[in-house]
Amino acid sequence: MVAGGVGEGDGYGGYRAQLVETLQQKGIRDLAVLRAVRMVPRHLFVPESVRHRAYDDAALPIGSSQTISQPWVQARYLELLNLHGRERVLEIGTGSGYQTALLAMLCDAVFSVERIPALAQRARDALGAAGIRNVTVLVGDGTLGWRPFAPYDAILVAAASPEIPAPLIEQLAPEGRMVIPLGDRTNQTLTLVRQEGNELRTTTVADVRFVPLLGEFGFR
Ligand code: SAH
Repeated sequence: MVAGGVGEGDGYGGYRAQLVETLQQKGIRDLAVLRAVRMVPRHLFVPESVRHRAYDDAALPIGSSQTISQPWVQARYLELLNLHGRERVLEIGTGSGYQTALLAMLCDAVFSVERIPALAQRARDALGAAGIRNVTVLVGDGTLGWRPFAPYDAILVAAASPEIPAPLIEQLAPEGRMVIPLGDRTNQTLTLVRQEGNELRTTTVADVRFVPLLGEFGFR
């Protein structure tokens, strides 16, 4: 898991505590998820220009026309995945790497795929600075999944897709869980997908707005 003391004593602890309180007020209940938010130094994952807003419950620009999602949405995602600490997780859309860091606190290993090399490198640097080690950031088209390390106990898709990319279904372990925003380029529904035996069960959770998943099995 994570090296001790991530984010501790960095002068931002009070802001993180406030963010945790906001998330609790908005209905986040999972204590492991709240603890991860309390620990991970979000300010390391956003550009200097918006650092003063790092602990607002808001989406922020991270460069290359991409955004770091709103913490409430990220926490909701993690609650839905229901991780216990031993899972191997695939994340599509590393972005800033912040959600990757939260995931890393909640499972055994994270493989995160980002299509924009500059973002992947910045995320690697931020994860390193935060002392988070159980993460591998890969550059490529995440709609293809990442076959060498499959199957995955959980898959988190952080960009909007018109449908569930077939390779991701193939790479999900039996009894695995996936969260993915499904819809068009402007409006989507956060969807929980569960593999139960040979059946795929989907549950819709909330209306969300994500940047598009661009790739072979996403938006072209
Ligand atoms: N959760 C992230 C935000 C992700 S924004 C955070 O905490 O910062 C969505 C990201 O998905 C963007 O960085 C975008 O470049 C990436 N993306 C879009 N299509 C992709 C694809 N096919 N494969 C991998 N990454 C993709």
